[in-house]
Amino acid sequence: GETYGLHNWGDDLVTVDATGAVCLGDPTFPDGQPTPLPKIMADLSDRGIVAPVLLRVDAFLDRALAQLNTAFAEACTATRYQGVYRGVFPIKVNQQAEVIKQLVRSGRRFNYGLEAGSKPELLIALAQDLPSDALLICNGFKDEDFIRLAILSRHLGHNTVIVIESLDEFDIIQRVSADLNRRPLLGVRVKLTERVTGKWQESSGDRSTFGLSAFELMALITRMKNSDFLDCLVLQHSHLGSQVPDIIDVRRATTEACRFYTELTNLGAPLTHIDLGGGLGVDYTGARRADDNSVNYSVDEYCYNIVETLRYALDEAEIPHPTIVTESGRFVVAQSSIFVFNVLGATLYDAGEKPDLYPEDHHLLADLMAVEHYIDGARHQEALNDAVYYRDEMRALFRRGQLNLDQLSRGEQIFLYLSARLKLRDTEENAAFFIDHYHGNFSLFQSLPDVWAIDQLHPILPLQRLNEAPTRHAIINDITCDSDGKIDRFILGEDIASALPVHDLVDDQPYYVGAFFVGAYQETLGDLHNLFGDANVITISLDGAGGFSIVNETEADSIAEVLSYVEYDPRDCLDAVRQKIERAVVAGLVEAETRRLMISAYKKALNGSTYFEQPAPRQA
Ligand code: PLP
Repeated sequence: GETYGLHNWGDDLVTVDATGAVCLGDPTFPDGQPTPLPKIMADLSDRGIVAPVLLRVDAFLDRALAQLNTAFAEACTATRYQGVYRGVFPIKVNQQAEVIKQLVRSGRRFNYGLEAGSKPELLIALAQDLPSDALLICNGFKDEDFIRLAILSRHLGHNTVIVIESLDEFDIIQRVSADLNRRPLLGVRVKLTERVTGKWQESSGDRSTFGLSAFELMALITRMKNSDFLDCLVLQHSHLGSQVPDIIDVRRATTEACRFYTELTNLGAPLTHIDLGGGLGVDYTGARRADDNSVNYSVDEYCYNIVETLRYALDEAEIPHPTIVTESGRFVVAQSSIFVFNVLGATLYDAGEKPDLYPEDHHLLADLMAVEHYIDGARHQEALNDAVYYRDEMRALFRRGQLNLDQLSRGEQIFLYLSARLKLRDTEENAAFFIDHYHGNFSLFQSLPDVWAIDQLHPILPLQRLNEAPTRHAIINDITCDSDGKIDRFILGEDIASALPVHDLVDDQPYYVGAFFVGAYQETLGDLHNLFGDANVITISLDGAGGFSIVNETEADSIAEVLSYVEYDPRDCLDAVRQKIERAVVAGLVEAETRRLMISAYKKALNGSTYFEQPAPRQA
């Protein structure tokens, strides 16, 4: 576990047992026995649920939600803040029904609400049973239908706040409100001028797409006053961007938000809520520093900093403390999901067996073999240089027709044989020579899209045999036919490495790899590249005694489903195949028996998985 930095990011929830298995611990049973992940995979496999699997652990979600709410409550008490915290979950971070259902259920005791950034998300929110004190915050572009639903939803008992993002939007709100003869609850999104560091710095500062500038804000307030809408303005919204690495930025932005809040209040807006958006980061590497994949603060610190800043600023302005709202999604859901895939095989760049040399072989093969004699000791680097030189010369001879395929093949084998010995005395700059390729049964584009799109680092590691020293370094390829479909950046302790330490594969023993912290944004950002569909999604409850139970199960997309997503009717496809083979039967080109085999194979595939359906690995 140490190799993979588990002690940095595992947070007591992810540990390694004496058998070398990665285990999941339920925080509700602190002294309980954790459940080994390989056992979970084996048990699922017995039930017919095979990798790749997205595992959700219900207790992990509950824990993060409780951490956030408790930290705000404690910060309010510690600083004698007069207001309360009312968090909302931004649905866009994970829209899956099971996740939203659990968040609403577990969030009830905290009056936890929802944030909708689009009409579909609003429809999801309206179908939930939110507590009467929870908020429903509406952000994003809103047309008349959106606004009508938001205003009417107050009759369902929702505290729906329409956050005005532009002056045009206010025109629509006025119109719809007049049509319905009902008053809305309004918020306004202000554009902070403070910029933050980190990956999402573009969504902060005065060039950000969203929010009203000082000038627009003044124009809005004037228009609201003139149209008698100012008394509807109860919430001020600002958003720093996701995954803010540096706590100083949180403080600075909160301070600026307080300035706007004070000014708007003094202009007569009856504000009662300050919404600071998202930004609470996840420490993916566990390094606890302000960089792209880590943050230099804890959730407690984040909450305390916000509450303390608000209290000082608003006391100074002599303004009553508002209800604090944040829209932290990433922090709440990231840890709760783990993506597990099996390794199908490997392409190794070394070989154990010494190939034969024949007297008639080209002398280059003998030269290459002779390198073996000076691999050890001071001539190691020379041996590596020579081996590469002779191999490249052999390839050149092959291209010119002076070496046949058999000779080239034995030459390549000699090189791989030498590689195995050279590798033992590997140096940092030569490391790339010896990196193997492990082939994972997954699609990066479907299941870990941010790894591809924004170089997101997730903790990734083998889930078994961690009591054995790793014998290889590998990058992980997925099974799409895209050369971008690979993982070649890994968290190793305090460092980031270009290869993952792994073990030699053993025939007929599954080798599972897990990617952690994948609960935020990944599921719906994932796409159908090469038509690999959704993996199985399984929500589990741990029992504190080394076991688990399945709470919910969503079967992976079948090929038929995936085909229908790209406008094929699977029945039409089957029909076309049927007709084609029938013509061949009638023409006497194939036997009737072949038609039976073909149709049954096609049907089986349609109903089957888009992924490789063979769990045991093979080493090539
Ligand atoms: N609120 C708004 C308006 C957002 O745009 C986002 C995402 O960027 C969030 C909340 C979620 O933020 P986070 O990823 O920090 O949870």
